[in-house]
Amino acid sequence: MRSLVSRGDCRRGGALLSAPGPLGDPAMPNRPRPLVAGNWKMNGLRRSLRVLGEIEQGYTPGLKAKADLLLCPPATLVLTAAHVLVGSGIAVGGQDCHAKEAGAFTGDIAAEMLADAGATFAIVGHSERRQYHGEKDAEICAKAAAAHRAGLAAIVCVGETQGEREAGKTLAVVRRQLRGSVPEASRRANLVVAYEPVWAIGTGLTPTAADVAEVHALIRDELRRIVGKAEEASVRILYGGSVKPANAKELLAVENVDGALVGGASLLAADFLGIAGAYLA
Ligand code: PEP
Repeated sequence: MRSLVSRGDCRRGGALLSAPGPLGDPAMPNRPRPLVAGNWKMNGLRRSLRVLGEIEQGYTPGLKAKADLLLCPPATLVLTAAHVLVGSGIAVGGQDCHAKEAGAFTGDIAAEMLADAGATFAIVGHSERRQYHGEKDAEICAKAAAAHRAGLAAIVCVGETQGEREAGKTLAVVRRQLRGSVPEASRRANLVVAYEPVWAIGTGLTPTAADVAEVHALIRDELRRIVGKAEEASVRILYGGSVKPANAKELLAVENVDGALVGGASLLAADFLGIAGAYLA
């Protein structure tokens, strides 16, 4: 895959534009406001948008007080989803974006197009993009910078493969991915990090709470270098990989876990709301 922007350019680039705020309960200034994000992947036709209405209905004032919700449908549905959810407090995001604003890149979508359609977030560096599209850290960094340029918050995904975990390389891999794929100009308002162990995605397997805590602590530490001490604690770090209503409470209670990136379970309103509902108790 082509390298669109040099690593140096990418890590300096990216204006800080308006994006959803991560700040949470003023009584707990060091804990960001939780974010539960759904990634529909390549699933969803127009009729699937009724799920959004069901999620909106279940986004009660009680839940609204506790957590932000975000849904990332396929690109064909972003515009309509944003219309359906207007005024609901539920955000809409894209699943990927190109590093350039426009040009001869058949089949790609620019961050500006997502923003124009009503998105406020873009997932970048999902392991399925890394695996099936050969995306490397430098390109992901350029995509995150493009999201910032367009005024979107970038959800930068990192995570080790099963082989890397078995080889004891998890922390080194996550550190390398973070250093390579998060633009230096990132701020708490436009950055979310998602830790998604590749072996946990869509498999029903999850790391132990202790394993999640260890990786999230490393990410928090790395964030200090990126956004500085004043903002480090308020960047949201999501856990993703086989989150279900049955395990959400345990995973979301882990230190430095500020929400979830949910794949399969975001396709059904009851499951997605069941996960977000972990914040109600
Ligand atoms: C994902 O793909 O981001 C994901 C977390 O998938 P799942 O929840 O289905 O494991």
